[in-house]
Amino acid sequence: MKIKDILKETAPHISFEVFPPKTDAGFESVLAATDRIAALKPSYISVTYGAGGGTSKNTVNIASHIKDDLGVTSLAHLTCVSSTREHVQEVIRQLKEKEIENVLALRGDIPKNSEFPLPDQYKYASELVKEMKEQGDFCIGAACYPEGHVDTEFKRDDINNLKIKVDCGVDFLTTQMFFENSIFYNFLYKIREKGIMVPVLPGIMPVTHKSQVERICNMSGTVLPQRFIDVVERFGDNPKAMRQAGIAYATDQIIDLFANGINHVHIYSMNKPEVAEAIMNNLSEIVVKTEIHS
Ligand code: FAD
Repeated sequence: MKIKDILKETAPHISFEVFPPKTDAGFESVLAATDRIAALKPSYISVTYGAGGGTSKNTVNIASHIKDDLGVTSLAHLTCVSSTREHVQEVIRQLKEKEIENVLALRGDIPKNSEFPLPDQYKYASELVKEMKEQGDFCIGAACYPEGHVDTEFKRDDINNLKIKVDCGVDFLTTQMFFENSIFYNFLYKIREKGIMVPVLPGIMPVTHKSQVERICNMSGTVLPQRFIDVVERFGDNPKAMRQAGIAYATDQIIDLFANGINHVHIYSMNKPEVAEAIMNNLSEIVVKTEIHS
């Protein structure tokens, strides 16, 4: 099923994310985690794509497993920054062969210490979106950044660039993680003013371990609100308490989003089925479970 059609639903829905193993050795354990997440009947499961391109095969295979063996809609991520156009074309061919119709088209992070872009590379995600639109009947998602992308000096430029990307054929957007919902509401207001009218899924990351915090800030440049910092300071050294508090914090954000009229929230569940289960349990009377497709 195309995600743009799922997003027409007005009841609260949840989707989850998994990432493929770096090597074939970890494949089985990722599949086991994916199977448990699929059993929660989310509206879809997304599968990330390694920036180095090394896991492209696993991304396609896991997305195909979710769709064909587990009966859940899947979304395959695809980045273009570390690959040649030829390699990207090959992955698009694989996606078509496996009948994966939902793709999150991304640039990826620019590799350090290398010349970019080389003549046979894409420069921006918008170029990949355009290419995919020409190559097949894909439902195309893309990334957006409520706090601005770390590479962009001015937020205004980021939103202008987002408009260019969406106009190339994006069907829906998923946000970078954020820990303060007002940042998302302000962003939504600004992009709607700019004429970006596609559905936007807020991306929520349940932080269940203190060690995640520094990585998150470096990667996304997100501003941590004081009440989040207080949680980490109080519970960060007690793993069980931090896990419970992190799940509660994420649940609180999700309920606030639904209460404010958002119909679909994407959870960065990071191959942790126990975290996905705890969140679904907290939302058992709120979120609609999607029937498994036969
Ligand atoms: P773009 O949309 O190309 O934007 C990148 C930068 O270029 C921005 O600063 C933008 O303002 C600027 N820009 C864009 N177009 C123009 C233009 N026409 N002129 C001038 N400047 C322009 N990374 C992975 O490696 N694998 C994943 O699976 C993955 N999944 C992600 C999922 C989500 C929901 C999000 C939010 C991010 C994900 N990322 C992933 C990270 C992402 O690849 C990085 O944030 C990357 O640096 C930017 O990718 P993009 O597709 O947003 O790029």
